[in-house]
Amino acid sequence: MHTRLLLPALLAATLAAPGRADEPKGADPLESIRAEEFLAHVRWLADDAREGRLTGSAGERAATQYVADRFAEWGLQPGGDDGGWFQPFPISSRAFPADGCVCTLRGSDPTTSWAKALTCVDEFRPLGASADGEAEGRVVFAGWGETQGTWDDWRGIDAKGAIVVLLRLEAEALPPYLKVQGGGFFMRARLEQRQIKAAAAHGAAAVVFVPAPGRPDVIGRVERAKREAIPALFAKRAVLGPILATHGCDLDAWVAGAKTTKATPAALTLALSARVTAKIRVDKMAGRNVIGVLPGADPGRKREVVVIGAHADHVGWNEEANGTDQSLDIHNGADDNASGTAGLLEIAQAFATSPHRPGRTVVFASFTGEELGLLGSQHYVKHPAFPLADTVAMINLDMIGRANGRVEVGGLGEAPSLATDVEAAARRYTELFTKSGRTH
Ligand SMILES: [Zn+2]
Repeated sequence: MHTRLLLPALLAATLAAPGRADEPKGADPLESIRAEEFLAHVRWLADDAREGRLTGSAGERAATQYVADRFAEWGLQPGGDDGGWFQPFPISSRAFPADGCVCTLRGSDPTTSWAKALTCVDEFRPLGASADGEAEGRVVFAGWGETQGTWDDWRGIDAKGAIVVLLRLEAEALPPYLKVQGGGFFMRARLEQRQIKAAAAHGAAAVVFVPAPGRPDVIGRVERAKREAIPALFAKRAVLGPILATHGCDLDAWVAGAKTTKATPAALTLALSARVTAKIRVDKMAGRNVIGVLPGADPGRKREVVVIGAHADHVGWNEEANGTDQSLDIHNGADDNASGTAGLLEIAQAFATSPHRPGRTVVFASFTGEELGLLGSQHYVKHPAFPLADTVAMINLDMIGRANGRVEVGGLGEAPSLATDVEAAARRYTELFTKSGRTH
């Protein structure tokens, strides 16, 4: 645990301008940098409840609120917009399933009244490319909906007015006679749009995608996309597969047949009808930096500003399950960058609660939008709490949780005077550190 404390302690020592003759007596400000507090911040920020702190998400809002609450608790001054802690800024909007999405399957055997309503979003979801709308009709199965060479998934199929079930077109699970370019989110989205277009061209009223047998049974999240002409849904194979199997289409058998013959398997007759409603909501999203200010104690130097920053956001949920794990995972981001945020908080606490006030003003900046392309720090540069001309240094903390006995400090070539300070503090403080025996 020694090493987790090393970097915040080094920086605190550096910024406190060690070696001044006029240092006030009193508690060592570094006493407030504690392993158990550091770990508590990381645990809270990287908890599953924060859902990986994707910018714009509820988890990111909770994490930034946590940082603001600590800043307030320790008596920093708010340096955000309108006298508050936050610097909100827009990020690209995101698509979600709107209320009222429906996917109900009904057996067409008149002697039974069997029906099943799938739940949104556990069992199905609309695609971002879906049209908003309703469709009702008989269900037909059209393989991958591909026409390539002598292969024609649409041969013998009357798709007019029908709800067409299609296998998701993925390079990893095709018969050898079908070729697609594989890989990547954008390619998958492009293939899905191609399949929807093909279905619409054959007169389909709507499309329901299902992952092919052997592929991860994951429906992922709704992504913004160019909208197609008909409703399009994604359903889980674990739910849709057994229903199809008992009504005339065994997906495993069909795909196995497709892989062992050059000819498209014969069209199937399904004893099913469906009603679907797809509706996409596009929400404007925002992220927010948190800015806390410790005014400088030296009237002659307080105009000068040092910014200490760390990004609090991470990447949220993964896009797809890996391997056989078919659940979606939270990327908790304990190291990247709950650790740097914890460092920022511990440094802020050390300065704010100690009589050793730095002469210069210190801005504590918890950035967001980093994982979306450094959006938060760019926003700060355009809207700094104090003029950039007066900002003499910026120190950024990223992934300091796995130091393993070493602290890497980058960019010192551009700041030789800071390098001298860091080296002096390292010599002074690492020794102090071991002497004080706080190695937990
Ligand atoms: Zn990072």
